[in-house]
Amino acid sequence: MQPTTPRIAIIGAGPGGLTCARVLQRHGMPVTLFDRDTSAGARPQGGTLDMQPHSGQVALQEAGLDEGFRALARPEGQEMRLLDRTGTVLLQRTPAPDEEQSPEIDRGELRRLLLDSLAPGTVRWGHYLRTLHPIGDGTHKAEFDDGHTATFDLVIGADGAWSRVRPLLSDATPHYSGVTFVETGFDDADTRHPAVARLVGDGSMMALSGGKGLIAQRNSGGRIRVYAAFRGSQDWAAERGLNLDDTEAVRAALLETFTGWDGQLLALLQDNDGGFINRPLFALPVPHAWPHTPGLTLLGDAAHLMTPFSGMGANLAMLDGCELARALALPRSLKGAGGAPVADLDAAVRAYEAAMLPRSAKAAEGSARGLDNAFAHDAPRGALHHLRHRLRHR
Ligand SMILES: Cc1cc2nc3c(=O)[nH]c(=O)nc-3n(C[C@H](O)[C@H](O)[C@H](O)COP(=O)(O)OP(=O)(O)OC[C@H]3O[C@@H](n4cnc5c(N)ncnc54)[C@H](O)[C@@H]3O)c2cc1C
Repeated sequence: MQPTTPRIAIIGAGPGGLTCARVLQRHGMPVTLFDRDTSAGARPQGGTLDMQPHSGQVALQEAGLDEGFRALARPEGQEMRLLDRTGTVLLQRTPAPDEEQSPEIDRGELRRLLLDSLAPGTVRWGHYLRTLHPIGDGTHKAEFDDGHTATFDLVIGADGAWSRVRPLLSDATPHYSGVTFVETGFDDADTRHPAVARLVGDGSMMALSGGKGLIAQRNSGGRIRVYAAFRGSQDWAAERGLNLDDTEAVRAALLETFTGWDGQLLALLQDNDGGFINRPLFALPVPHAWPHTPGLTLLGDAAHLMTPFSGMGANLAMLDGCELARALALPRSLKGAGGAPVADLDAAVRAYEAAMLPRSAKAAEGSARGLDNAFAHDAPRGALHHLRHRLRHR
């Protein structure tokens, strides 16, 4: 027998978990969301995301947040250019003035939009999930770092790359993709760094050659985020005896890596504000699946971590969250209140997994291909082909 009001926990207040919570609440289903961050503003949320029409935007509509999204979105951020190491522009895509296909939004603004839409008290900040104990009938006892415990009929692992929920379902662990991003950026770029602002334009710029890349994207508030990307060991810095906090030493190592690249591209590593952050890229095996297990499931990166070369990770996480919530809410809304059987959690989770697993496997394959093309030795040839194909099939 399912309980009349299922106790649902979501672990992780990223785009996927927040979307799931919001859609559940719109259908009148109670949910508690736990996140390890101590507050909504505890850490910077990262760069910009393009919200795609068949995934992120579908989820935002189902969440009733389309209007709020449009108010924050930057349609001009759809501009994109691909260059080679000499600075020659190989492909430029400029959106039409009224084009709203895949507008950009900063991750921080998206998170705020979703958070503000939730009932007060939905998110329990400062709750790092340590373990889950199966206690029979598909229920699990969650144990948090602060010693707090609670029992749930369904635990949804939306806790990202290093999920603590995933080990109960699958032995898979993320593997290093062979590519590292080193992040830096520019503040108030139009005024303080006009040449960099012109190089990057209103959207994103990617210069690729021989297994390396300089990638830059415009965020809101005049910020430009930059990634120096290269194939190499995950421990590249330690192997060179580099301290990653030593900005000048990292800069020198990166400039050496990009020796021979055009000066306007190298300015991305020379004139930046602040230091460098090392971000090795990880991915789960493809396909990643697990035997259906009552009382547990995964969404977003916890289920299908892929490198950013699909441009879909957050979009898929939101679609997962939306579809799972809809599946959980549907039997309830069909049968209504008043003593009728309530949500069949297990059937809903099965239906969600049956659609989500093949969809995410396809995207993860595309992402792996995108990464291979971008960092192939004959790059940017394959990347040019891949981008043209993506733009034709948007
Ligand atoms: C450089 C880069 C660029 C990207 N660009 C894009 C892009 O343009 N478009 C796009 O769609 N995607 C992009 N992505 C991918 C995207 O960032 C992720 O796919 C997306 O954030 C996944 O969302 P999520 O909700 O599944 O997980 P996350 O965003 O990782 O959120 C997980 C949440 O869980 C919390 N958490 C983790 N562990 C625990 C625990 N044990 N207990 C409690 N809470 C926990 C974390 O604090 C976090 O809030 C990019 C990724 C990278 C690295």
